[in-house]
Amino acid sequence: MKEEYIDLCIIGSGPAGYSAAIYASRAGLKTILYKGFQPGGQLTITSDVENYPGYPNGVQGPQMMIDFQKQAERFGAEVRTGDVTSVDFSSYPFKLDVDNKSTLITKSVIISTGASAKWLGLKSEERLNGKGVSACAVCDGFFFRNKIVAVVGGGDTAAEESLYLSKLTKKVYLLVRKDFLRASKIMQDRLIETDNINILWNTEVLEVLGNNKVEGITIFNNKKNNKSDINISGLFIAIGHKPNTEIFKKYLKMDNNGYIITNPGTTITNIKGVFATGDVQDKVYRQAVTAAGSGCMGALDAERFLSTKK
Ligand code: NDP
Repeated sequence: MKEEYIDLCIIGSGPAGYSAAIYASRAGLKTILYKGFQPGGQLTITSDVENYPGYPNGVQGPQMMIDFQKQAERFGAEVRTGDVTSVDFSSYPFKLDVDNKSTLITKSVIISTGASAKWLGLKSEERLNGKGVSACAVCDGFFFRNKIVAVVGGGDTAAEESLYLSKLTKKVYLLVRKDFLRASKIMQDRLIETDNINILWNTEVLEVLGNNKVEGITIFNNKKNNKSDINISGLFIAIGHKPNTEIFKKYLKMDNNGYIITNPGTTITNIKGVFATGDVQDKVYRQAVTAAGSGCMGALDAERFLSTKK
């Protein structure tokens, strides 16, 4: 296997990874970023991004990621297509396998592999993704002002998304597949107190209706055993996220959901020289701008760490 030696490897190419690459390369670190299995990250499956500061007219998610990449390359970061397939953090410097073909030996690592939204797995859901089907109310809720939408899920994310959407839209159906919510008590109280949130219990989505945009859904009541259609313009899937942390499990401390644990207010993990930034360590905010801020922190933390190694 081919071997290569560098200062810093950034894994992942969303706002966190690219921001880390901008800061690190600008600080003169020999930086290589691997784009990973979803180049550009979650923003590449969004259309308009209207809440990222600096784009007064909004920007398309994929275009924004191209801009981030160009900015990182301008300062010398090398952006490579490829996936880090396994890591060895048991000795220093760290070893990373890329596409099971080559080995990278690096003094530091920034993990920015993000989290992936979970989907129901319906063909119609996939077809209408970005055309009324979304996994992010803060990103897309604005497009459904004064319309009727539905949220699927029963946890804190579904509760938060429903409450957020209730302020923008005419009505929110919250579709819960059981007869109870998993969300925290305070969130449940807020849901019940909100007039335009209508909770449909024991309800599953069978189909998303519409050709080029969402026009409705077919739902199934698993208690009464009956099907019906409701008219909605937007469907928000909030059944959880899965952080992309599988290959780090052996080495890094994670919470029960697989999010990497960092020292509060930093990107420092339990292994010196390994940093985690963006959604891979943040299950609460999950925004492009917070991920970018975290990427900047990761580069500064890595730079500080590397200065002690010279
Ligand atoms: P959770 O795993 O807590 O909840 C997922 C929900 O989606 C459950 O109600 C589950 O139903 C439902 N679900 C799963 N699969 C399907 C499916 N195929 N069809 C229909 N429903 C489905 O995920 P969350 O993202 O809500 O939360 C993850 C973690 O993050 C939690 O610890 C949460 O507390 C935390 N969080 C904290 C926030 C905060 O502090 N502000 C905000 C958001 C999240 P069932 O119950 O039937 O399994």
